[in-house]
Amino acid sequence: MGNIVRMGERVLVAGAGGFIGGHLVAHLRNQGVSQIRAVDCKPIAEWYQTFPDVENMTLDLSGKQACEKAVSGMTQLYNLAADMGGMGFIETHKAECMLSVLINTHLLMAAREAGLSRFFFASSACVYNGDLQQDTQVTALREEDAYPALPEDGYGWEKLFSERMCRHFYEDFGLETRTVRYHNVYGPHGTYDGGREKAPAAICRKVIQAKLSGSDEIEIWGDGEQTRSFMYIDDCIKGTEMVFEERHLPPLNLGSDRLISINGLVDIVEDIAGVKLKRVYNLDAPKGVRGRNSDNTLIQATMGWAPSISLEVGMEKTYRWIYDQLVRSNSARSAAAS
Ligand code: NAD
Repeated sequence: MGNIVRMGERVLVAGAGGFIGGHLVAHLRNQGVSQIRAVDCKPIAEWYQTFPDVENMTLDLSGKQACEKAVSGMTQLYNLAADMGGMGFIETHKAECMLSVLINTHLLMAAREAGLSRFFFASSACVYNGDLQQDTQVTALREEDAYPALPEDGYGWEKLFSERMCRHFYEDFGLETRTVRYHNVYGPHGTYDGGREKAPAAICRKVIQAKLSGSDEIEIWGDGEQTRSFMYIDDCIKGTEMVFEERHLPPLNLGSDRLISINGLVDIVEDIAGVKLKRVYNLDAPKGVRGRNSDNTLIQATMGWAPSISLEVGMEKTYRWIYDQLVRSNSARSAAAS
């Protein structure tokens, strides 16, 4: 990946204590970016990844002053900070999801005032019109399918509004914004329990817990026939960097175009774990749209990006990491009890 854009740059990663932000900081270090400021509202001890040579700060970026402090002295910015989670979270926390508009708005204002040369915004496939996602064999979503607007209530509206604001900060003020629509990113060093986890991590955790406890059952949300596509974190970071270094473009899909049902995903995790579980379907649980897939024609044509890591390989790495976390917390619990 080209480093010309990076020479002498001072890069702010907002949301660096989270899943994608943590991986991005790791990547930027590997690319030789010498000045990185990592910011998140969580205490640093709770970040998924931290690095001693990075300036780590705890700040609530929903306030304008905090954003001004975060961008001070910086030249480029990635906004990966949002109050978000999987379907279990976003269906029941719509107001909290919409309040993330404060983070992006204040970061845009602060970035403009401080004269930053580039601003990245992480949007989501949840911006797409719900009417186009009612079938398991869904037609993959093209970028123009976001309008007429009927996004996911709460979370999707915030993303659509914020990507629109990025567009107008570019058109009206010349701030070089870049926006992608991530489709279900998964991998190690992310949320796997607590209510904000997404399907790939939740399924790994449930299969591991069944295996460790000797149970032969797994609860699946919905009938398991709902479909999605899933992108491994390394592909996500590579695509993020390519879009960051490109010229300004309308929001682009960044996701896998391999459509798979939740039942299919469970099959993959069972194969990794070497178990076969009885599936108990919870039809009342949050399940989101019936089908969603990414049409990658545009990003492939403009910058040659396509995901390269198979679901089987990516899920195996994710499974191993979650397995280690669960075994570690089980032994910590047993040690505390003895
Ligand atoms: P994450 O929840 O792991 O990371 C988000 C981070 O933002 C968290 O560490 C959180 O503490 C931080 N944050 C929240 N409110 C903040 C505030 N007020 N000030 C400072 N920090 C704050 O999520 P992620 O999976 O890493 O997602 C990163 C970005 O990508 C988010 O904008 C998300 O909406 C978007 N996205 C992710 C996916 C995915 O599949 N992971 C899909 C679509 C879009």
